[in-house]
Amino acid sequence: MIRRKNLILLLMISFIMVACSPKVESDKLQVVTSFTIISNMVKEIGGDKVEVANLVPTGTDPHEYEVKPKDIQAMIYADVILYNGLNLEGGQYGWLFKTIVALELDQDNIFALEDGIIPRYLTSDNEEDVINPHAFLSPKVGIKMSENVVKYLVQVDPVNKTYYEEQAAAYLSQLEAIDQMYEETINALDPSNRLLVTSERAFQYMNADYGLEEAYIWEIDTEELGTTEQLKALIEKLKVNPAPVLFVESNVDTRPMETISRETSIPIYERPVYSDELGLPGSAVDTYIKLLEYNIDVISSGLNK
Ligand SMILES: [Zn+2]
Repeated sequence: MIRRKNLILLLMISFIMVACSPKVESDKLQVVTSFTIISNMVKEIGGDKVEVANLVPTGTDPHEYEVKPKDIQAMIYADVILYNGLNLEGGQYGWLFKTIVALELDQDNIFALEDGIIPRYLTSDNEEDVINPHAFLSPKVGIKMSENVVKYLVQVDPVNKTYYEEQAAAYLSQLEAIDQMYEETINALDPSNRLLVTSERAFQYMNADYGLEEAYIWEIDTEELGTTEQLKALIEKLKVNPAPVLFVESNVDTRPMETISRETSIPIYERPVYSDELGLPGSAVDTYIKLLEYNIDVISSGLNK
């Protein structure tokens, strides 16, 4: 969460920086993305027609990010800003929109990639602040997000329409193959081994789209994590409905799941799943496609145990 005083200070620093460093002359479209998965999608579809500056890096929570002076500079000079929406960046009152409003940026060139995605809610209240933002873990959603990327790139840079559409067609055919693989892999699982247990409720869209059941310790990383009541509820659930293994995400404290494992005698699977971000460049999950392939491999290997 950015405090108002800090934001004003940052803005001052950035205006000085911007005044001192004129806009880099580039014929490429200057795109700002909110987090790693969108950054990768835009690079795949935008190819050599775009230059991407990404805000929230790997290892940092996209819900409660503190913008840096270089982020503000990139946002001021951006031709287009693409973000996840679905409450990932904290919604209309979160860090991203606070910055956009403070900088008085032209909101006509700022787009959420959520068009056509049916939101899923963490509670039955169906309020905006309980939308589960982790839609991108479902390849079916990834397809929609990529279609939105190409739509907005074409809208702001119509000269390169054909290029973006060709790039997108190649990218979408890869995602469609992955969607098919998810269908086949999950359908092939024994019906009694379809409970996916994770720390955070990050796989709600993926589970619903492909037919897995879900269980988790906490609903979202911004709430209290691993309280006694949360642990107890999952332990009770697993006593009635056991799972072959427990999964831990790459970016969470493993101790709460270790407690679950001790209390239920269900082992934690040796490889983590990725739920909030890409891995660092050079890692096995440094693109969105690789992340989707990696997750289904880990999940199906674990559930087949
Ligand atoms: Zn998360």
